[in-house]
Amino acid sequence: MYDRPYLFIDGQWLAPQQGGQLEVFDPSDESLLATVAAAGPADVDLAVNAARRAFDQGPWPRLSGVERAHTLRRIAEGIRARQDELAVLEVRDNGKPLPEAQWDIADAAGCFDFYADLAERLDTDERPVALADSRFRASVVREPVGVAAAVIPWNYPLLMAAWKVAPALAAGCTLVLKPSELTTLTALELARIAAEAGLPAGVLNVLPGLGNEAGAALVEHPGVDKVAFTGSVPTGSRIMQAAARDVKNISLELGGKSPFIVFADSDIEAAVEWIMFGIFWNQGQVCSATSRVLVERSLYPALLERLSDAASQIRIGNGLTEGVLLGPLVSAGQHAKVSAAIAQGLADGARLLYGGERPAEQAKGWFMQPTVFADVPLHSALWREEIFGPVVCVNPFDTEAEALHLANDSQFGLAAAVMSADLERCERIARKLQAGIVWINCSQPTFSELPWGGVKRSGIGRELGEWGLDNYLETKQITRYESGEAWGWYLT
Ligand code: NAD
Repeated sequence: MYDRPYLFIDGQWLAPQQGGQLEVFDPSDESLLATVAAAGPADVDLAVNAARRAFDQGPWPRLSGVERAHTLRRIAEGIRARQDELAVLEVRDNGKPLPEAQWDIADAAGCFDFYADLAERLDTDERPVALADSRFRASVVREPVGVAAAVIPWNYPLLMAAWKVAPALAAGCTLVLKPSELTTLTALELARIAAEAGLPAGVLNVLPGLGNEAGAALVEHPGVDKVAFTGSVPTGSRIMQAAARDVKNISLELGGKSPFIVFADSDIEAAVEWIMFGIFWNQGQVCSATSRVLVERSLYPALLERLSDAASQIRIGNGLTEGVLLGPLVSAGQHAKVSAAIAQGLADGARLLYGGERPAEQAKGWFMQPTVFADVPLHSALWREEIFGPVVCVNPFDTEAEALHLANDSQFGLAAAVMSADLERCERIARKLQAGIVWINCSQPTFSELPWGGVKRSGIGRELGEWGLDNYLETKQITRYESGEAWGWYLT
């Protein structure tokens, strides 16, 4: 049992002013795992004001990039120094298998190192711009946006925090981070690690709390300059409306229903491996999960058989048990949502090949079998809506044009994958897929160096890479009149 009675505000651990508390459950056995302080509007106000002071008067935005990079690297070291403990916390909070949590923690540390390198480059970022009118000399500089509100989901608790905190700090912003109410533990540890790394008070504030209380108060707060959100489309849309009042800078990383096109010349073992990686990793609770698989008709029967068989072999259980590759879903609510989507899919006439139920051997916990559907009606919610669970829909196609049409026929546009021995075909299709991320002959590999984000309802803006830093920077032109001649418009 973990007891976390404090919020992290202005470098101090403070009890919530209205005594709010969250109960967090272990998804593997439904037992009470933690009680956690929940921020209310008064705490949000305190935290935003602290971030505001740290931005307007504090040292952080005024340090050189090299100096900020030093602290970012110390945060990366702090994460690595506690990687085993953080990975176990993540498993207990979220349910994911331990090797996946270890991967996340290593990636989170790597993200801080990556943005440390970019912070250093900001010191020499002033770019002269040649003007046609030689009486003027101009340059362009970039400056931190200000106070950022970072609101994140529960599927990669520490990693999603790192994707926002690392670039925001590199840019010189200060921020208030609100983790999901379902997974708060590693975000609170990040606050501790950052403080130990020497981050000045008020630069990073961490407020667990409910979305419609702490989250809403945070994104509406007039002291916030930028809202960086990752989560569902309905919440993203609400946040966009809230941010509109003060015309806040926003970036949104939202949901997906990503397609994976498999041509018949693909190696069937490789195809099945990547399909499974694309939908069963993290129990399918992945925004970029390739949950709609399109298979060229001549390979379709064999692939369905191999995929269903392989899905039936996946070891399910507590994420801390060795050899487990599929843990529980994060919460009772998520389990109910996935179960309802499966039931609706069956009612709509999709053919269930494997799974679809709570595994018989798991008496407790929010487990769901890896689930394979084929011949899924194109109008069904199963095919069109994000399920966010270990549920893959497979349909056949006959021509390249049909595959592309089916792939792009979606409200979402986060990721897409294509597999074929014909690389020219893959490249051709990659250009035509409506998605911010396209994988060829694989699914899901993610790198700090590359932009991450979607088109259509999957969001606005890009995280990661140099593009992720741009989220937290404003661009300013400085233009100088340097002609010796008088301007001579009014005073001729
Ligand atoms: P969610 O939208 O329910 O919640 C996300 C966060 O928003 C939580 O911290 C929540 O407390 C907060 N929130 C809820 N209502 C709010 C409000 N009115 N104002 C401010 N904050 C509010 O999403 P979730 O269930 O936590 O996460 C799953 C979703 O996240 C999926 O749709 C998934 O695709 C998406 N996601 C996207 C990416 C990406 O990079 N595109 C990555 C991970 C998850």
